[in-house]
Amino acid sequence: MMRRPYNFSAGPAAIPEEVLRQAADEMLDWRGSGMSVMEMSHRGPQFESIIAQAEADLRELLGVPDDYAVLFMQGGALAENAIVPLNLSHGEKADYVVTGSWSQKSQLEARKFCDVHLSANTREQGYGGIPDPSTWSIRRDARYLHVCTNETIDGVEFHFVPDGQGVPLVADMSSHILSRQIDVSRYGCIYAGAQKNIGPAGLTLVIVRRDLLGHAVASCPTAFDYAQVAASHSMYNTPPTYAIYIAGLVLQWIKRQQYDGLTGLAAVEARNVAKARLLYDTLDASTFYQTRVAPDCRSRMNVPFHLRDAELNAGFLHGAEQAGLLQLKGHKTVGGMRASIYNAMPLDGVQALVAYLREFESRHA
Ligand SMILES: *Cc1c(COP(=O)(O)O)cnc(C)c1O
Repeated sequence: MMRRPYNFSAGPAAIPEEVLRQAADEMLDWRGSGMSVMEMSHRGPQFESIIAQAEADLRELLGVPDDYAVLFMQGGALAENAIVPLNLSHGEKADYVVTGSWSQKSQLEARKFCDVHLSANTREQGYGGIPDPSTWSIRRDARYLHVCTNETIDGVEFHFVPDGQGVPLVADMSSHILSRQIDVSRYGCIYAGAQKNIGPAGLTLVIVRRDLLGHAVASCPTAFDYAQVAASHSMYNTPPTYAIYIAGLVLQWIKRQQYDGLTGLAAVEARNVAKARLLYDTLDASTFYQTRVAPDCRSRMNVPFHLRDAELNAGFLHGAEQAGLLQLKGHKTVGGMRASIYNAMPLDGVQALVAYLREFESRHA
């Protein structure tokens, strides 16, 4: 069979081919049930087993402690920009660190619901770095401190866990959750839209410490009240059943991964490090291409880069498609190119991109 092209989309993004094949095999009849997962009652025993397995696998992969609830929600990360303050701000103070377009959106939305203060903000500097956390101004009585630990558009990633100075950390991890091991216990709340590294669009994952629940403001919609969603095991209303099923297959795929003597999430992380190093080393070795993010906070998942001569952009993208390298165009606010190399991108895909980068340069330099 012909190899599919490599897909560098920032999201919705590539899904492991093995998962797509398994889903195709199970499409008409899920394991002898006579039904597609799409056609099952969310309260029936089959789907109950699917969601329970997905939660157990997620807990195992990320080492989620028992005092944290795992919630399968809808609305994406942008809805969480409202749902977080509705649930966690008590209508009072919340602090935000702005390191890119997504955290900027988060703080703007939160202003509708609470008293927002920016603890740090790199907007004026064009979002290329993370200010030293010792310089952040965090209000002692803030209900939480919000960060975006991987800025998908700007390519800025936290390679450390910030110190909230006693204020619970809330993190938008949409574009790097499950790309690396994390210490969940350092966070009060983690949220992520699924369509980057977990599965299809339509599912939002929330991991929240149980002692923070139960303080939603009175106007919070019931379907978005974390305490309600937790009490009903994500079944307050119909959850996005098919997206949860695919996410479950992706989690099983992560558990099976092997690389460099490692297995599971450790293997995936080591492979992601190798992929990112290969790509950044290639870009750094050239004067034809440029990267603009400070080396200590370069994202392993989203690699924005520029051709020094922007006149060549259209030709670059056309040639890339011909070479089976899809969706490399940069976000409109940043320009240039962006290669998103999530878990589902194999090392071979990055090698193919690197070969194309060198070949294009040698033709045009
Ligand atoms: C994609 C993305 C979002 C937006 O997610 P939606 O599902 O479209 O709401 C927010 N934050 C980050 C970090 C993202 O990568």
